[in-house]
This record gives sequence, structure tokens and C-alpha cells, in this order.
Amino acid sequence: MKSSTAIGTTATAEAYRGRFAPSPTGLLHQGSLLAAVGSWLDARAHGGKWLVRMEDLDRPRTVAGAAEAILRTLDALGLTSDEPVLWQSSRGEAYAQALERLRANHCVYRCTCTRSELSGPYAGHCRMHPPPADGPAAWRLLLSPHARIDFDDLFQGQQSFNADSIGDPVIFRRDGIAAYQLAVVVDDAFQGITHVVRGADLLESTAWQIGVFRGLGLPAPRFGHLPLVVEPDGSKLSKSRGAQAVSGWPPGEALERILTLLGYSPPAGLRHEPVPRILDWALSGWPPAGLAGRRAIALAT
Ligand code: GLU
Ligand code: ZN
Repeated sequence: MKSSTAIGTTATAEAYRGRFAPSPTGLLHQGSLLAAVGSWLDARAHGGKWLVRMEDLDRPRTVAGAAEAILRTLDALGLTSDEPVLWQSSRGEAYAQALERLRANHCVYRCTCTRSELSGPYAGHCRMHPPPADGPAAWRLLLSPHARIDFDDLFQGQQSFNADSIGDPVIFRRDGIAAYQLAVVVDDAFQGITHVVRGADLLESTAWQIGVFRGLGLPAPRFGHLPLVVEPDGSKLSKSRGAQAVSGWPPGEALERILTLLGYSPPAGLRHEPVPRILDWALSGWPPAGLAGRRAIALAT
């Protein structure tokens, strides 16, 4: 039995529903592909569904053709969405309704701070000094002061965040476009996602998103954060190396590379097997030993 509203679908019989939610701001690289493969393996290992959602909200940062290229790359690697791809650019109304609900629940406030006034976690200036009611403003989620958000991460264990140190996130931008932190929650709820498996760069975002779920009165899914792929010196992937698109790689090679990063030891020649066999092999060993507790994986020099 499912009950459905415009912004939320709640599965009462919990069947695993996972997802991969790329932003079409470029092609897939080793880091994003690791999240795709890891979320797919976790879903399949639990007999679950795996969905793809295209997070194409930020029009200025969207690269023409990137979304289609990402979907083609995923298909070639045997990672195909079990349901039609959901495009965030088509979901504006649901995000506006969610903002209304948060307003009705007194979980948001207007903020007119400019970028130059902001550094570090937002300390709640406009919560304490509400701006005039007219004129354009962003909306922030009301978490501060003193809220704590705890969750038990599938791979990273118990996590605890303090609202005062992460600040209140913008959930609706001044230009009238929903921010990632709201859109992702509205769509995870709408798609009935039970398990969010993604990169560890989003750990802090998870605390905010749990806050948004609470504000909307919706149950939060389970979260699992996979290690982030970084340069050999620990820095963020750079264009020159790891961030190179994987779309040109032969599928077997791309999968073998990602599985090795995840901690598997693929047997010689695995890359020459058909893609479904490679995925089956990985599935039988999921999760690989050593994945738990890992925040980052450095590329070899
Ligand atoms: N679209 C986000 C990104 O590519 C990820 C969203 C998510 O997995 O929650 O960084
Ligand atoms: Zn402000």
C-alpha cells in the first residue's frame, strides 16, 4: 500500500529503493561513477530497485549534452534506471508546494544576506533580525540554535551534527529556484527512496536534509556515504587527473577500476568479461572488506 501526496510518497511496506542523482554539470568521472556503482550494488544486494534522477536544477551550470552522455555511460556499464529518469527541471511546482508546507510549519525564514556578508556557517542573522517583508529574499531552513541531528550511516557509523556549527541552509534561492537541499529531499520522498548511497562529500548535507524531512513531516531514508575519490595528495579531484571523464573507457576497464577503488581485488581478466558478469561478481562480494569507515580513497600516483 502506498499513500501519495503531491510532494511525498510513502511506502508502508519497506522495499529497498535506492538512487543515483547526478548533476549534468559535466561528464561522469571516477568519483561520481563510484557513487553510481556503489549505490547500484547496495540496491541489488538488498534485492532492491535502483533509480536515476537527473539533478538539472541549476541551469547556468548545466552543460549541454551532459545529461544524455551520463545516461549513455551508465547504460554501457549495465547501470540502467528501473523506472523512467526523473528530471528536476520538471519538478518546480512540487518544490514550491514544499516551501509552502515548510512555511506553514514555521520551519523556514527569509534571508537577504548577500554573498559577501556570508562566510563560514550561517550564524542566523536574519533569524534574529528579520528583513523587511517585501523584496526578493532567499529562504533558509530553521535549525539553529542548538538543534542536533544524529544519524547512523550505513558505512560511516554514527554521525552527529550540531546546527550551530553547520548553520541554517538556503533551501529556496532568492531567484525563485529551489536549492539542492530542498529539491533532493522532495524528490527522494516523491520517489519513495529508502536508502541514499552517495559520496562522503555530502555527509554534512545529510544533516540539513534530515532537517528538511523533519520540517516537512516526512520520514527520512537511511543514508550511506561512500569514500570520496581524491588526488594522491588528498586534494579534490582535478581536471587533469581523476576528474577525467570515464565515458571514453571500455566498460570492463571502467568497472574494474571503480571496483578496485571500492576495495575489491578483481581477478585477472575480469575486465574482459561481459558487463553483467562483472557486476554479478561484484555483487557476490558486496560490501568489500575495508569499505566501512573509509572517508576517502586516494588515486595511485
Ligand atoms: N546531484 C548531487 C551531485 O551530483 C548529488 C545528489 C545526491 O546524491 O544527493 O553532487
Ligand atoms: Zn540573512
